[in-house]
This record gives sequence, C-alpha cells and structure tokens, in this order.
Amino acid sequence: MERKLMPSGVTVRRENMTTKTLNASAAGLGFLPAVFAIVLGLGVITLTGHVQAAALHDAAHDVRHATGFPCH
Ligand SMILES: [Zn+2]
Repeated sequence: MERKLMPSGVTVRRENMTTKTLNASAAGLGFLPAVFAIVLGLGVITLTGHVQAAALHDAAHDVRHATGFPCH
C-alpha cells in the first residue's frame, strides 16, 4: 500500500490490486470433468441395462409429456 500526501492535504492511499486466476488444470483438477463423465456414463449404462424395457419406455414417455414434447 502506498500513501501519498496530495497538495490539498488529502492523503491518498493506493493499493496495488493484482488478481491471480487459477484454472482447473493449473490446480491439478483437470481430470475431474472426465471422471465425472465416466461415472455418469457408466451409471446410465448400468441403470438402463438392468431395468425392464417397458419401464424404460414408460419413463421416456413420461419425460416426453413432462417436457411438453409432442407425443400422441
Ligand atoms: Zn404420450
């Protein structure tokens, strides 16, 4: 911080403002989105692989109606 006395008698304080930007890869967390995508994908595949086909059809049908997508 720098203090400077102006001719008017007012003291001006000046602080150097610096900003550090830290992105995910610089923080060593660049792999997290990939891990999240892999876990999500395996979860979806596991879920849909073990559920009854009729249940999948009904769920997709309900989502279509809930989102207002034209159906029947
Ligand atoms: Zn429908």
